[in-house]
Amino acid sequence: MLQPNLFTPSEGLTEEQSSEPPSILRSASKPSSPKKENTKGPLDKRMSQWNDWRWQVRNRIRSLDHLSKYVPSLQNRGELLKVIEKYPMAITPYYASIIQQADLSDPVFRMSVPNIQELFDPPCLSDDPLEEHQDMPVPGLVHRYRDRALLIATTMCSMYCRHCTRKRIAGTRETAISGHRMRQVQEYLFNHPEISDVIVSGGDPLTMSDTAIETVLSMLRSVPSVQVIRIGTRVPVVLPMRITDKLVTLLKKYHPLWINTHFNHPNEITAEARMACAKLADAGIPLGNQTVLLRGVNDNPRVIEELCRRLISTRVRPYYLYQCDLVRGVEHFRTSIRKGMEIMEYLRGRISGIAIPTFVVDAPHGGGKIPVLPTYVVSMSPTHTVLRNYEGLLVSYPEPGVEMMPTVETVVDGEPGVWELATGKADAIIPAQTQRMERRQKNQDTRVVSSSARYLFDA
Ligand code: SF4
Repeated sequence: MLQPNLFTPSEGLTEEQSSEPPSILRSASKPSSPKKENTKGPLDKRMSQWNDWRWQVRNRIRSLDHLSKYVPSLQNRGELLKVIEKYPMAITPYYASIIQQADLSDPVFRMSVPNIQELFDPPCLSDDPLEEHQDMPVPGLVHRYRDRALLIATTMCSMYCRHCTRKRIAGTRETAISGHRMRQVQEYLFNHPEISDVIVSGGDPLTMSDTAIETVLSMLRSVPSVQVIRIGTRVPVVLPMRITDKLVTLLKKYHPLWINTHFNHPNEITAEARMACAKLADAGIPLGNQTVLLRGVNDNPRVIEELCRRLISTRVRPYYLYQCDLVRGVEHFRTSIRKGMEIMEYLRGRISGIAIPTFVVDAPHGGGKIPVLPTYVVSMSPTHTVLRNYEGLLVSYPEPGVEMMPTVETVVDGEPGVWELATGKADAIIPAQTQRMERRQKNQDTRVVSSSARYLFDA
């Protein structure tokens, strides 16, 4: 379904604007057949092109002239030109179609349309803050953790996210890893059997042709010690029509294969995106999602809550919520770590644990992901740990083998505090006015006394 708004293809995204497809795509394309007479109406023709991922790639918005057709009020063109010369622009017609308002108040616009602020960098930012380049034993393969490696299979994406952590490479050249480099990677993996998990990333590996994807996956699968292959891709979000039946059949051959995708805002979960995820999930591919916390896009607890709810209803497990990396060109997207903590505090207890991602800071200098959590451990003694829950309830958890202390009623003189919990003199401090306690009270008042109900309550 097209979104009926100012970015629908009927407003000028026609074949006339096509640019040549990048070589990796061209190599997999069938020779074009002679033009047949269009026996269907023009709308049918447009619709069938719309659902053709190659058409979407050929018709990406790549120039300011093209962009200005959709954003007539485009300002600072001179500066914007400098931005896209440094950090290329590409927006698929599909992704442009889900922009609801052509200005920075729209999250999809913000993530896809260049901004002159990309040129202003404080000194704490760098091109490669995770120092991936320094952890590359062979070109294209990052070996950081002992048992995992990350393969940069291509520098191409269908859409160049303005917040990209690999701005240094994404789109600078649209090219896929060569056969020679892939053989080097394969050899390294053969010589390092401790690597059991390889993440295929980029760029976006699913922008490669089916043939190129098959080559990469089969070479990885030929290494006996590689147990799990993971693919990192934003295709279900920005080019969902790329998830064709043929691609899914290909991917299925390489199980165990996992996919992590990258939804950042509930507006990105459209009918098309849901369908793409459903195809992958039906093929037995577990789906996770990596969200980046972005100022003006999703730095709001309710937006993240809605995103997580929609993700699990799309069979995608929220996996990570990333603090924005210290990458040049993304300062205007950065939030404080405190904002992430606030969001995590908000989510816990409100939504199911399967919908809650882990908030992580990917440490500069290649330190890896560091989980950052609100503090739930309030105090510890040799005998008890005092924990708090999302409501502010404090409970005392006795360590194994510790003789239980006398109960609250017999020992505590006055109101118990944290010390009483940590020493086992009290077992909980319960806030009185929570929805849960109100519900309990109501249950007590309205309890049904049929025998089956009594059985349930007594169990
Ligand atoms: S799809 Fe991924 S690699 Fe490509 S621009 Fe977006 S964030 Fe960067």
